[in-house]
Amino acid sequence: MEKLLNELSSECQPAYGVECDVAKNAQVPENLKRSTPLGLPNIAENDLLRHFTNLSRKNYALSTVFYPLGSCTMKYNPLINERIARNDAFNNVHPYQPIETMQSVLEVMYELEKDLCEVAGMDNFSLQQAAGAHGEFAGLLVISKYFKSIKQKRRKIIVPDSAHGTNPASAHGTNPASAAFAGFEIVPLKSELDGSISLDKLKEVLTPEIATMMLTVPNTLGVFEKSITEISKLVHDNGSLLYYDGANLNAVMGIVRPGDMGFDVMHINLHKTFSTPHGGGGPGSGPIGVKSFLEPFLPVPRVEKKKDKYMLNYKKSKNIGKVKAFFGNFPVILKASAYVKALGGKGLKNVSEQAVLNANYMLAKFKDKVNVPAGNRCMHEFVLSPKTLFKNDVRTIDIAKRLLDYGYYAPTIYFPLIVDEAIMIEPTETESKETLDKFVNVVNKIILEESYQEPQKLKDAPINTPVRRLNEVDAARKPILKWD
Ligand SMILES: *Cc1c(COP(=O)(O)O)cnc(C)c1O
Repeated sequence: MEKLLNELSSECQPAYGVECDVAKNAQVPENLKRSTPLGLPNIAENDLLRHFTNLSRKNYALSTVFYPLGSCTMKYNPLINERIARNDAFNNVHPYQPIETMQSVLEVMYELEKDLCEVAGMDNFSLQQAAGAHGEFAGLLVISKYFKSIKQKRRKIIVPDSAHGTNPASAHGTNPASAAFAGFEIVPLKSELDGSISLDKLKEVLTPEIATMMLTVPNTLGVFEKSITEISKLVHDNGSLLYYDGANLNAVMGIVRPGDMGFDVMHINLHKTFSTPHGGGGPGSGPIGVKSFLEPFLPVPRVEKKKDKYMLNYKKSKNIGKVKAFFGNFPVILKASAYVKALGGKGLKNVSEQAVLNANYMLAKFKDKVNVPAGNRCMHEFVLSPKTLFKNDVRTIDIAKRLLDYGYYAPTIYFPLIVDEAIMIEPTETESKETLDKFVNVVNKIILEESYQEPQKLKDAPINTPVRRLNEVDAARKPILKWD
């Protein structure tokens, strides 16, 4: 176990020097003078370097292992984009600078907004939101304000149980959470076995109070919504709007556009689809796209171009206000911009085709051995349900923990909630056939051999990691939050 900095500290080796920068003759009141040492750890630079390098090696990261985390698109993020984001020309700009001196920053935002419109088939984008969930929230505020402006009382949102988050009672997941935050009531919709929507069931819940329906296409089971045109017609005939959760955009870029499918509002998770490292929770960016009739409601400021000059417009009459300081997470916007410009339309289409091909290749290798509830074909991800194979009390959580011993990051498990003992796998376009083959072999070995021959090993897993399996109940009920 790597020691903490305080534990590594040794008085013998003072490794830093603190100089008092208060003038000698300054009149500092006695009661403000420090009487105890600063308490910083004493560690030689060399040991400090080793400490952090050792810690980083304990981490499971995309730069060290295959990371098949379903629903989250953990793909390779081109390192050159990091260098671009660190470029002084962008990095040293302050948001309070005069507009004339930050034209390049505004140009990047203006251009990315146009590129996202092209990819998504929308008319306008706001880049301010800091995550997908934040985008959902802002998008729903736009919808809320729109209905207020046309004097309609619509306070309900349909969320299918295949979406991100399904349990209305606990608001589990981002879709119902965002809806509740934005002041809406959630109307759950039970989906079919493959996560798709039944038109008959949809008709039953489409009442005059429905403001919008939130859909993820392809859905969290990796299945494309075949009836999307009919769904769009039903929803719009009811006077409601259609919201697109763009977390799975990596499956459809250059092939089909949310705007063309009939969606009115959407978000894109730039950190997922457009290559920003996002394990561990940030930083993210969740731009929202809208059809033109909703543009007046977008958060301010809007980046505009007048006679070759970029400017910020704060004066949109119906805007929902600001949702983030300044212009959003600009470095993420910059990286996405570099990614889009480098790949171009053809490149982005190739990304999606390759992501779907990789997922189907893996699915084909699994499907004769492990139950796949949503069938023989998928988009960019698929869900296994190995429940029927489990003997000896082994469960999906044990499979996931055991994968850590083999050096993999575990896939998403127990999600979506509609699949028993779900294991959700998204290989992405940036993995080789060899990597996929190796992973499939290991998963099959764990499920089909180890769980029968050495069930206790699976219950004990992970065995080779620096920290063994945690007691999840204690972690939630009696968390230890500080070093003592
Ligand atoms: C990741 C995800 C979200 C939430 O996005 P964040 O950027 O993590 O806030 C919403 N819906 C789906 C389907 C997702 O996979």
